[in-house]
Amino acid sequence: MDLNLPVSSLPFVGPSYAKKLKKLKIQTLKDLLYHVPHRYEDFSQVEKIQTLQPGETVTIKGQIVAIKNIFTRSRKQIQQATVSDGQDSIDIIWFNQPFIVKTLPIGTYVSLSGRVEASGRKRTLISPKYEKISHNPQPTTYNQTTIHTGRLVPIYPETEGISSRWLRARFHQLFNVLNQIDDPLPSGILTRYHLLPLAQSLSQIHLPENFQQAQTARRRFAFDELLELHLRSLTRKKEWKEEKLAHKFRIDQEKIFGFTNSLPFSLTNSQNKAIREILNDLAKSQPMNRLLEGDVGSGKTVVAALACYLAHLNGFQAAIMAPTQILAIQHFQTLESILKPLGVTVDLRTSSQRVTSHGSQDVLVGTHSLVQKGVSFKNLGLAIIDEQHRFGVRQRALLSEKSTGSLSPHILTMTATPIPRTVALVAYGDLDLSTLDELPKGRIEIKTWVVPPQKREAAYNWIRDRVKNTDEQAFIVCPLIEESEKEGMKSIKAAKVEFERLSKKVFPDLRLGLLHGKVKNKEKNEIMERLKKGDIDVLVATPVVEVGIDIPNATIMMIEGAERFGLAQLHQLRGRVGRGTKQSYCLLFSDTKSENPLKRLKNMERTLSGRKLAELDLEIRGPGELYGTAQHGFPELKVASFADVELIKAAQEVAEELINSTESSTYLQSLLKKESIALN
Ligand code: ADP
Ligand code: MG
Repeated sequence: MDLNLPVSSLPFVGPSYAKKLKKLKIQTLKDLLYHVPHRYEDFSQVEKIQTLQPGETVTIKGQIVAIKNIFTRSRKQIQQATVSDGQDSIDIIWFNQPFIVKTLPIGTYVSLSGRVEASGRKRTLISPKYEKISHNPQPTTYNQTTIHTGRLVPIYPETEGISSRWLRARFHQLFNVLNQIDDPLPSGILTRYHLLPLAQSLSQIHLPENFQQAQTARRRFAFDELLELHLRSLTRKKEWKEEKLAHKFRIDQEKIFGFTNSLPFSLTNSQNKAIREILNDLAKSQPMNRLLEGDVGSGKTVVAALACYLAHLNGFQAAIMAPTQILAIQHFQTLESILKPLGVTVDLRTSSQRVTSHGSQDVLVGTHSLVQKGVSFKNLGLAIIDEQHRFGVRQRALLSEKSTGSLSPHILTMTATPIPRTVALVAYGDLDLSTLDELPKGRIEIKTWVVPPQKREAAYNWIRDRVKNTDEQAFIVCPLIEESEKEGMKSIKAAKVEFERLSKKVFPDLRLGLLHGKVKNKEKNEIMERLKKGDIDVLVATPVVEVGIDIPNATIMMIEGAERFGLAQLHQLRGRVGRGTKQSYCLLFSDTKSENPLKRLKNMERTLSGRKLAELDLEIRGPGELYGTAQHGFPELKVASFADVELIKAAQEVAEELINSTESSTYLQSLLKKESIALN
């Protein structure tokens, strides 16, 4: 059976169902079979009516002996029935489902699942799930022929017109098909990783006899999901390596020494290591595709600058793309200060300047505008993308097309987002990874405190003492209001309100500034200028300022509603201070009284490593919370979990094995088809 056939090839799926299924991203048979339950309702306890206890969730089987519609005083309809199993009987009530009276006329044999409620000595089943059964059943046998009652009942992600009930009935119809599906994975792999064969997994996940069965089946689906992701990125990596050619850079060691000697500091070990890895890539005729990951302040920019310098020495242009204008300006200034003395010209291009070709400059810094249609480079040899998660694969591809001729530029992606190892494995499998896991020497550690509500006033006074008439500055970040990472109007409003309150009531004697996403570029630049010049004591901002501004005199980061943030996010906010030579502080405000969020926040006082905090987040809040709303463009896992280290590693091993095996597996072929769609 070809699982890539459209769902409409099933007898019970016509055009209208096909359309509805599409809303659940179900288009092929495979999509349907892999639409797995997100939970199960346990209706497997089948009991005699006589022994029912209030509060139990049970299934009973019997015959309808009475059923009628009743109008209540508020003109609502309820359906009242009595069911008997031959020994005893019980009353059933449904609300507003008048059709039930016709569906289950007197004499019908039914199976009913629900919670037993009691009023006085009388027991009632309220709104139970029901299904007809064809024969007079033994009241206590666990009858596997029921679908919606009397068993473990799967609950699926639903959409209008596609209920779990509908899906269950379909899988029930498909039972014999499920049992015959060929497994695309070799049996050797199944044995080695203790994976259930596909056919068995399909029937066990959709029609399980018990939780144990459902669980082992889930593990197989989680594995398949991870395997697919790994295979996708390995395929991309392979294509990148095999199909693309880049300019081989000549590496002039003497010039490199010259560069490093011109710096006012010596490089850290991990900077040196990352540089070696990058030089190694640049010297190849395949384009580099590397991710440079490092905490805020770990010194990624200078590594990028060296790569740009090498591009220049080899006669090529380099481009750096930053996610925001502020960051672009900042990169421009830093790079210019490093590279200009070495005879490299650096220019800034942002959306406010319309340009169509980037002619003579050696290094171009900009925002999205760099990849706009109609923009071309003369001789692009290196493209650097800062904060990769905001751009993703597509932008990388666009930028790599910006070079003239058939050769692709080398690509370096940089991120300060702390990524747990397992997430990096799954999400960035197509990139080579360099990590800056140490901060430059002499950095003073940021002191972090979780501040309880009763100390709020004291904290305000402490902040005033530090910033008033000194060159120190503070950030006050307002709480995360919208779920999504995109800054919404509510967040902006909250920041405005807080700004007003602080200006009038708390810090009337200080110079305050307000920054959020809706502030116009011109005004934004003005605020940044004032901030840099020290004309602002306290900057009030929405959480969006998270991404990279560099103000060396900012020594205080105060975060409101800290419990709403992930630890990794808090860490990134904290990284906005401590960039200069002064002792810096991070104050986490939380009005919550519950213990667990506070305990979680306490980790911020102890831990300064972004990755460790991200991994803690994963452990404590789970992957959903960590990257809620897929905020960093990480893949959303349906069944698998980023916390499942073992399975992620296993899937990676298998992916490597499959991709290198000469006989092309079913998996790979179907994947490659999909991949080309995804990239377009
Ligand atoms: P990132 O981009 O990784 O957040 P930056 O590249 O902005 O970090 O570097 C932060 C600061 O540290 C900059 O002022 C930079 O000049 C400085 N810096 C970078 N590398 C070193 C080093 N090895 N020793 C001391 N200071 C360094
Ligand atoms: Mg940076």
